[in-house]
Amino acid sequence: MQALKKQTLLEDGLQLVADQPEPRVGHAEVKIRVAAASICGTDQSIYQITSKPGMRDEMLTYNGGDVSRYQPIIVGHEFCGEVVEVGEDVHSGVARVGDYVTAEMHIFCGHCQQCATGRRHICKNIRVKGVHLDGAFAEYVVVPATNLVNLERFGGRDVIPPRFGAFLDALGNAVHTVMEGRVEGKTVAILGCGAQGLMSTAVARTLGAARIYVTDFSNPQGFDANHLTKRFETARQLGADFCFDTNEEIAPGQRDEMLRRIRDEHGGGVDVALEMSGAEAAYNDAGTIVKNGGQILLLGIPSRPLRSFDFGKYAVWKGVTIRGIFGRRMFETWYGMLDLLGSEKSGLKSRLEKIIAREPVPLSEFERGFELVRNHEAVKLLLEP
Ligand SMILES: [Zn+2]
Ligand SMILES: [Zn+2]
Repeated sequence: MQALKKQTLLEDGLQLVADQPEPRVGHAEVKIRVAAASICGTDQSIYQITSKPGMRDEMLTYNGGDVSRYQPIIVGHEFCGEVVEVGEDVHSGVARVGDYVTAEMHIFCGHCQQCATGRRHICKNIRVKGVHLDGAFAEYVVVPATNLVNLERFGGRDVIPPRFGAFLDALGNAVHTVMEGRVEGKTVAILGCGAQGLMSTAVARTLGAARIYVTDFSNPQGFDANHLTKRFETARQLGADFCFDTNEEIAPGQRDEMLRRIRDEHGGGVDVALEMSGAEAAYNDAGTIVKNGGQILLLGIPSRPLRSFDFGKYAVWKGVTIRGIFGRRMFETWYGMLDLLGSEKSGLKSRLEKIIAREPVPLSEFERGFELVRNHEAVKLLLEP
């Protein structure tokens, strides 16, 4: 079969392989023909591995950190497709051949303390398909039956068409973060206007946030001023009330205007700040704009340890709760997300339509797809094997 692989961690890029053997289904596994997959920031980091030491270390977790022991894997972890084979021990209530499905690609061990206490999303021995194990940028993928999400139970293709089904993993990160923030009736700041920032905006609006502020910092490594203007336009369509470029040099006055507005109109700060960018300046902004007793939830991953975050000023003195968010709760996040998508009145699906690239890209033209996402021309873009 055709598959997109990371052959070495010493070079950038990905390789399309034409003769990858199809994965064999184990007794407790399900084999899926991939209908569509979606490109994630993680995939971009794997592509640009030489400048992403954190990502490289993560991929080597189970190779003793030794780059020479790296075994090439198929990348990709956001996908949906059709069941083509079911292992002998998989109950027919889980899946049957022909079912339309997706999967939680974080493979939990099932026996660590976290797994044993209902927190499989932070399993101590977690392996991620598409990062540590073979993923979904291929014609077929095999997943443990325990990780299957059977979309037939949520209305099937009519309700969750493949253009949504292909990125539920990513949307689940945003849903998880926003749900942890209990945003209903609250003032929310979303720092970062990438895919996660935009999806979180849509979810926070759907879940009844009172006010939504979206910020980003225009710069050559991220969005330039032009792209950021477009992103903010999209954020407003998804439900943002106010958007601010916090780069004082490019957008003089915007950051001050944001601080003034938040201070004067929201009791000295926002209730919940969602950090979705991983940029150092954004952590400080989150600490500045969150109100005393508020929450900062962290989904973004900084590329290196932070040097400047003032815990005394932003956490201790303010009594602020700071929490990391990882993956999706299994499977509370999935159920919540799929019910929201299935509800016409929630409006989530129609909001998200605005960030899905109109034309899918064939897997064989993956370079073009990666470039569109890298250049911020597309937010969520589908690859079709
Ligand atoms: Zn992802
Ligand atoms: Zn575990």
